[in-house]
Amino acid sequence: MNKRLQQVREHLDNWRIDGLLITSAANRRWLSGFTGSAGRLLVTRDRAVFSTDSRYWEQAEHQAPDFEIFRQGDAKDDTTKFLQMGGATRIGIEARHMSVVGFNALKKETAFRWRALATTVEPFRSIKSVEEIAVIRKAARITDETVAQFPRMARPGITEQALAWELEKFMRESGADRPGFDIIVASGPNSALPHHHPGDRSLELGDMIVVDLGAEVDGYRSDLTRTFHLGESPNDTFWNIYNTVWQAQEAAIAGIRSGVTGKDIDTLARDPINAAGHKEHFGHGTGHGVGLEIHEEPRFSMHAEKMTIPAGAVMTVEPGIYLPGYGGVRIEDLLLVTDNGAEYLSMAPKMPLIPL
Ligand code: ZN
Ligand code: ZN
Repeated sequence: MNKRLQQVREHLDNWRIDGLLITSAANRRWLSGFTGSAGRLLVTRDRAVFSTDSRYWEQAEHQAPDFEIFRQGDAKDDTTKFLQMGGATRIGIEARHMSVVGFNALKKETAFRWRALATTVEPFRSIKSVEEIAVIRKAARITDETVAQFPRMARPGITEQALAWELEKFMRESGADRPGFDIIVASGPNSALPHHHPGDRSLELGDMIVVDLGAEVDGYRSDLTRTFHLGESPNDTFWNIYNTVWQAQEAAIAGIRSGVTGKDIDTLARDPINAAGHKEHFGHGTGHGVGLEIHEEPRFSMHAEKMTIPAGAVMTVEPGIYLPGYGGVRIEDLLLVTDNGAEYLSMAPKMPLIPL
């Protein structure tokens, strides 16, 4: 954690501040180690202060040893006292996370000047430490083991909802703290909806099924999508879009190494999909960083021409083709970006056919 505090301190001048106030859960956890749901960090040149209420005093002392704990109570001037502890006068806030109510309250603290920062520690978070990678590997392994159960679980008549619950149970019993996000099981025409919420539709022979799932371990997540076909004789449309998506994914992965831009990789995935006539059927970005949050920096996106991908980033590559009213295919793997390529963290095979 000390190294992370040091990174913040080295950046204070860049941000043109002498104190940074952190209030969002993922940034708070990354910087302090604190896993609770409430608390504010103030980092200045020589102080690091953690303000939290009585529910968390003990936990904060235990989990965030690099911070002095300010015991927030009911006193009206508690916020002022906390902010004064750092000795800073120009304080940066997380503009994307702070509520209007929260900001209005801070503006009453007229002894300080407030500077809204679009990003704070997010770019630091995108480069994972050895320890973080080890935890993400564990989450990815549990995810692989879970999706491997899917062909056994899937049969005509079972609902998407029931399948999502079977997967979640298996995942927790395999060591996940919880799913990293709500598991997606999208069958038949629902598979054309990239973020379908599993419902009461029952599987039918000939369905294409998109399964998107990830585990959470010690706060870190994994993310994986496989597309299946119920029964062993899919039509040509299935194979056409399945193979196009697979090819697009492999082309994108082959281009990954540190220093490329997010747009470079998005283009590698998008070109073969456009060439196959499916430009309109791939509406989302090609991938995203994964860590304490399921979607974090950096991004593989057509808008990421200025975003350079660093070694140590953990990212998904997840092109898809969605035919409205018919069905869709998405294939997603989790990768570690290195100086000369990308290492697969996902190991689940791509064998879409489910024999009955
Ligand atoms: Zn996913
Ligand atoms: Zn994803």
